[in-house]
Amino acid sequence: MNQFVQKTYAAINKDNETRMKSSSGGIFSLLADVIIKQGGVVFGAAYDNEFNVIHTYIDNIEDLNILRGSKYVLSNMGDSYSKVKSFLEEGRKVLFTGTPCQIAGLNNFLGKAYDNLYMQDLVCHGVPMQSVWKKYLNYRNMIDKKTPKDINFRDKVNGWTRFEMKFAYNDFNYSVFHRSDLFMKLFLKNYSLRESCYACKFKGLDRIADITLADFWGVKHICEEMYDDKGTSLVIINSEKGQALFDLIKEEVEEREVDIQKAIEYNICIIESVPKPEDRELFIADLDKLEMDELVVKYIDNK
Ligand SMILES: Cc1cc2nc3c(=O)[nH]c(=O)nc-3n(C[C@H](O)[C@H](O)[C@H](O)COP(=O)(O)OP(=O)(O)OC[C@H]3O[C@@H](n4cnc5c(N)ncnc54)[C@H](O)[C@@H]3O)c2cc1C
Repeated sequence: MNQFVQKTYAAINKDNETRMKSSSGGIFSLLADVIIKQGGVVFGAAYDNEFNVIHTYIDNIEDLNILRGSKYVLSNMGDSYSKVKSFLEEGRKVLFTGTPCQIAGLNNFLGKAYDNLYMQDLVCHGVPMQSVWKKYLNYRNMIDKKTPKDINFRDKVNGWTRFEMKFAYNDFNYSVFHRSDLFMKLFLKNYSLRESCYACKFKGLDRIADITLADFWGVKHICEEMYDDKGTSLVIINSEKGQALFDLIKEEVEEREVDIQKAIEYNICIIESVPKPEDRELFIADLDKLEMDELVVKYIDNK
């Protein structure tokens, strides 16, 4: 039986540049860095050439930026699980990161424990469908008439809590407060999520992953000295292996131990699925008929 007593921290990466480029407190980058420095491989979500979200791996610190940052779209797993297995069998350390359901999928695929495998999941609101993301990419292309150089779902230029959706083009940026962006509205009002997210089987504190990362929403009320609106991570250590990995980055982290129950009060997605909108079936039927802006007017703005 696993005797490990779960620990929860408010945590901040002391390197301000990395933290500002990360969605929360920049803890993922430190975990990835330490694994790569030991000759290991890190799996996570990146964009392909057309800004579809895919799972891929890196084993070079210079490539860390491709995995950094939340992309609020279901990532395409491709052959990542079998690649993880090959690296593990070669004896290399692997850090696999993803949503709790992707971690569960890997665990089932492998069918046994590996000492050289570290798993890090996220607290997950739910994941938007690829079809809605594709529709939004086409919509932006129609409006902005350009191909983006980069996309950031969590630009912190106006603060971590007032984050912006940003499409960076060569000559201008589309940059909008998240609650005003069409894609983010459908995400945050729960219309665009995969069906399975409304009854997620991987909620709760009993995690498969060794470490769970999240935004520490509410940190200002729980641990005020850890709030400066540049991003604070909630880090939940679920296993001895997770603790050993976290201990390796501790010098580069400002951290305070906190009560998980207090954190849950501000982050219900740790333990509960989001509710399914009553008219979601109608929304799905309208997906092929209406444009992004028309969907948002009909299902969100006019309510
Ligand atoms: C779909 C989704 C929903 C989330 N919902 C919540 C929530 O409700 N509450 C909350 O507190 N936190 C949520 N998070 C987590 C949060 O946004 C940060 O990703 C997390 O705190 C890590 O931040 P960081 O600063 O340490 O690292 P960052 O560098 O910002 O994050 C990088 C990590 O996110 C992973 N990642 C990015 N996009 C995806 C994706 N599409 N699928 C799988 N993994 C991905 C990367 O593989 C890497 O592990 C969500 C993340 C995602 C991707």
